[in-house]
Amino acid sequence: VRFEDLNISDELLKGLYVAMKYERPSKIQSITLPMILSPPYKSLIAQAHNGSGKTTCFVLGMLSRIDPKLAAPQAICICPTRELAIQNMEVLQKMGKFSGITSELAIRENLLAYKRAPVTAQVVIGTPDHMLAESGFRPNTVKIMNDIVKQHRDCQVLLFSATFNEKVKAFALEIVTKFSVKEY
Ligand code: AMP
Repeated sequence: VRFEDLNISDELLKGLYVAMKYERPSKIQSITLPMILSPPYKSLIAQAHNGSGKTTCFVLGMLSRIDPKLAAPQAICICPTRELAIQNMEVLQKMGKFSGITSELAIRENLLAYKRAPVTAQVVIGTPDHMLAESGFRPNTVKIMNDIVKQHRDCQVLLFSATFNEKVKAFALEIVTKFSVKEY
């Protein structure tokens, strides 16, 4: 598979080749990008180890679905730590360099900033985790997801995790409700 075969815009191809300096899709990218980037835009749960290139899968998924002419949030990226949120935002900005797509880092409650006017950033990235509070990543993420899915029933959910134990599986099933399992 080549990036050219995956329904990717010229601006994003330039982002992949020129900004990221990638030559061809990695294995996880070859498997998931056809599903992520082409209709019917299926939701996906994927396990991929660190270093496999999984960030590109969901970042490219978000960048591809955004209308650059619409100055409003169209994608939300929920990360388990603030460090990951910052890292993902850096990848997003680099890969989207030629697309003119804007993003905003939001922490904690502000992750719901997508609802609060006047947020004009097209991608909102952050972590809902309270370092000290009783409620953690999982219940907060479920709350945000339920809220979004209620308003946008056709939204695409992409869940990538390096680990996939029973805890992660239960969490995945809570936020990606309609799914089929396929192993590679
Ligand atoms: P990740 O698994 O998303 O943390 O990515 C791990 C590393 O692989 C990062 O340093 C990326 O820059 C690199 N990478 C991701 N996709 C590709 C690709 N298609 N070609 C070459 N390097 C890549």
